[in-house]
Amino acid sequence: MEQDVLHLVLGDRPPDMTAAEWADFGRWLERITAPDYRRWETDVRRIEGCAHPVRLAGSVLLVDSATGEILHELTSDKHAPLMVPCGNRRRAWCAPCSRVYQWDTWHLVKAGLAGGKGVPASVSTHPRVLLTLTAPSFGPVHTRSADGACRPRRDGGECEHGIPSACWMRHAAEDPLIGAPLCAACYDYAGAVLWNAHAGRLWSRFTDVVRRQELPRAAGVSKAEFARLACLSFVKVAEFQRRGLVHFHAVMRLDPPEQGGALPDWADHEIIAASARRAASRARVVTCPSRVGQWNLTWGAQVDVRPIPETGDGSADKVAAYIAKYVTKAAEESGTVDFPLYCKGCRGTGLARVCHHCGGTGLRIPLSALRVSSHVREFITTAWRLGRLPEFRDLKLRRWAHQLGYGGHFSTKSRAYSTTLTTLRAARANYRADQLSKRFNTAGKLIVDSDLRFVGTGYASKTEEQIAEGIRDAIAENRRIAREALADLRWRESDHWEVE
Ligand SMILES: [Zn+2]
Ligand SMILES: [Zn+2]
Ligand SMILES: [Zn+2]
Ligand SMILES: [Zn+2]
Repeated sequence: MEQDVLHLVLGDRPPDMTAAEWADFGRWLERITAPDYRRWETDVRRIEGCAHPVRLAGSVLLVDSATGEILHELTSDKHAPLMVPCGNRRRAWCAPCSRVYQWDTWHLVKAGLAGGKGVPASVSTHPRVLLTLTAPSFGPVHTRSADGACRPRRDGGECEHGIPSACWMRHAAEDPLIGAPLCAACYDYAGAVLWNAHAGRLWSRFTDVVRRQELPRAAGVSKAEFARLACLSFVKVAEFQRRGLVHFHAVMRLDPPEQGGALPDWADHEIIAASARRAASRARVVTCPSRVGQWNLTWGAQVDVRPIPETGDGSADKVAAYIAKYVTKAAEESGTVDFPLYCKGCRGTGLARVCHHCGGTGLRIPLSALRVSSHVREFITTAWRLGRLPEFRDLKLRRWAHQLGYGGHFSTKSRAYSTTLTTLRAARANYRADQLSKRFNTAGKLIVDSDLRFVGTGYASKTEEQIAEGIRDAIAENRRIAREALADLRWRESDHWEVE
């Protein structure tokens, strides 16, 4: 680095730097030596190096409500707007903000299992299961099996398109073929897109069947009586599989109808598990009839249900981490793009060639320009084509083509399950306000009086973006080191130490 600075002072490019790197380096040096840099860097650290911060202009005053005294003032100036984090859920978009979201979800799921955050500790004694529901098959795809070939079929023959029905390859974990069909012409892309588009409805149908039919039947009581004795709550997250279909992980819990009440004897995790399995095999959604056909959509045969034990913090922690892991992802696991493809000018209709944004295609960019696998391209193209049919208007398939038809939320919960993300965020804001009150030693309540307007999103230049990325990485690295040090300390304090 020192060598590089010398070169800069001398104004000649070092031999091992390209012209572009040299120019980058000059811009970087210019930025970090600017008079406002220190303040800017403090700001970026405060928002933990958020990848797409919101820039605001105006001022924020911290006022003591008792005395009216202005304790602190933050004002933007032309070169240094105030920055707030983007708050995005998706890791691919902003790692620091997605971490906050993930952490909140962890607390939310954990509170529903072990209590806390306003949820009574008695929930930890309620029966609950961890459930995974998958999509059915829409044609054979390449898979990765731990102990052998992909699809070993000795007498498999071939399909009508002349493609062998067997695959003797052992696919590596990163092989892009995994999840792609053996024969694209045989694969039911329309069915797969419509399945994704109806997955949310299929989930509602499923919970309805569990609640109103399977649980009352298994308990030997009427529907109405069941509702008086117990209620079912859940939290679920959606995950995209490599084959482009969504599936769900969920916690389902049985509660007494009133807080502090008792559950009947039959209410255990086995009754939830058995009812969920039966409901999964029975629930279905039939698509509306269309010129391309009609589909009877069900869950796949792979249904996984396991009890979450009553005691032991570990199990609640683990399940919460397992569920929270998925909330920072969108459809990118399937290899698709992470932005909508429809033209915003005409909402994807491309009507009558009047839209000057897209020239009547309805597309933001041509589908042929997408850098995706042929499987994903086929998925997107099918969603786009089906999106034109009036029969499927409700499904907004063009709006959700980039998510392969899935337009549902990536995490949802029933009201009774736990606290809410909004409550957790409010608690965090209150905590911060308390800390500030303490720091300024206020007589009354701390009032935040802001007068702000939106300036833009993201950083002002590519150089700032790169510096912020460095700060983000440094914060993450510090966290990792702190976590390891803490784990080490715990280990030393634990029995391991004494045993040795
Ligand atoms: Zn962010
Ligand atoms: Zn294969
Ligand atoms: Zn075929
Ligand atoms: Zn348009």
